[in-house]
Amino acid sequence: MKRYSAFAIAREAIRFHSGWERAWRNPEPKKRYDVIIVGAGGHGLATAYYLGRNFGITNVVVIEKSWLGGGNTGRNTTIIRSNYLQDPSAAIYEKARSLYENLSQELNYNVMFSPRGVMMLAQTYHEIRGYQRTAHANALQGVTTEFIDPQKVKELCPIINLTGPRYPVLGALWQPRGGTARHDAVAWGYARACSDMGMDIIQQCEVKAVRQKHGKVVGVDTTKGAIDCDKLGLVVAGHSGVLADMAGFRLPVESVALQALVSEPIKPCMDVVVMANTVHGYMSQSDKGEMVIGGGADGYNNYTQRGSFHHVEETVRALVETFPMISRLKMLRCWGGIVDMTGDRSPILSKTPLENCFINCGWGTGGFKAIPGSGWGMAELMAKGQSPLTEEFGIQRFKDGKFIDESVAAGVAH
Ligand SMILES: Cc1cc2nc3c(=O)[nH]c(=O)nc-3n(C[C@H](O)[C@H](O)[C@H](O)COP(=O)(O)OP(=O)(O)OC[C@H]3O[C@@H](n4cnc5c(N)ncnc54)[C@H](O)[C@@H]3O)c2cc1C
Repeated sequence: MKRYSAFAIAREAIRFHSGWERAWRNPEPKKRYDVIIVGAGGHGLATAYYLGRNFGITNVVVIEKSWLGGGNTGRNTTIIRSNYLQDPSAAIYEKARSLYENLSQELNYNVMFSPRGVMMLAQTYHEIRGYQRTAHANALQGVTTEFIDPQKVKELCPIINLTGPRYPVLGALWQPRGGTARHDAVAWGYARACSDMGMDIIQQCEVKAVRQKHGKVVGVDTTKGAIDCDKLGLVVAGHSGVLADMAGFRLPVESVALQALVSEPIKPCMDVVVMANTVHGYMSQSDKGEMVIGGGADGYNNYTQRGSFHHVEETVRALVETFPMISRLKMLRCWGGIVDMTGDRSPILSKTPLENCFINCGWGTGGFKAIPGSGWGMAELMAKGQSPLTEEFGIQRFKDGKFIDESVAAGVAH
């Protein structure tokens, strides 16, 4: 693979961009691989990447029913933060956040990580107490956050209205090294690096069945034929229940559509990410100038990947109180993605009842931020059978009652 560099850009400019290579190969599937990963979203691609990078396992295929990065990875609002309450969560999200810091250099692909700072507004006294508690927990976990007062909120985000009629801003949990990254680029960067290591990425290929013998996985049937493997990783977000069903076990997850929208582009007016959990909405400004606004999840289970007007109305109505200036903006587009929610709002990275079949799911409304850490942990779990990062996130916790309750940290859909 030719490296991207300032020199390469200059060279290609001179020769009319005739020398760029395809970022990844488009191969036909082989009959057998050491590892099959189902799902070419960020988590699946990152798992494949760290299998190669950290364990030298490169006879790997990533199978995608649609186009790579076209699931939730390409539909999310790209907020990255690690200010979670429980220790296992802080560990995996902070690992991910810290890997994001150098991901562009690592992958030789600009993922546009922008640590512009994330604030979660406290708009009730209950929230003040909750976020102060999280700030103390984060201090013990080595995650840099602080509880800031309303004046500091206004300094960091001048367009905010502190004295909303229902919910005035009373402070915020502030993570200065949280931020955003370019979602497509994260998927594309990992895909390019995987392909460079000799891994195959097969797009437009749907897994239809999981084959097993004597309780052990032996391969999958796909729309491009049967493929055998030693180990199988299911990393399909909103479709986890469907794949688990194929593998013969049930998951404690529900699939619902989560929605977001963007406004028309405007001049730069906001250089932080703001989440308002009580009124339920969050906002940041993209590099193109659009206000990126995250809304809620549907209140019923479904597999529809699209937006709906009642959600747009609810979300915008909530946010206008805190950001009155957005009432004058036009909406450019809205969309939805299918997210997989667990009862404790924490993910599942786990062995399964089917031997050599592993699952990574349950990231719900907030898994983009976790992609590098999740890939790192999942690769270790698949290669060695265990990982300190994933230890607490097994499916067994739902039987043992050892929940990792993040309903507060994940209280808004992002
Ligand atoms: C509107 C919205 C906003 C969000 N905002 C944020 C945010 O701000 N911050 C944050 O951290 N997270 C956010 N999220 C959550 C985040 O997007 C997801 O947690 C994360 O992208 C999940 O990545 P993934 O790789 O697991 O799944 P995906 O990217 O969905 O990839 C799974 C892939 O599996 C494929 N697949 C499914 N079934 C099969 C099959 N049978 N055969 C082959 N392939 C199959 C799918 O086509 C898909 O491409 C948001 C999500 C949505 C929908």
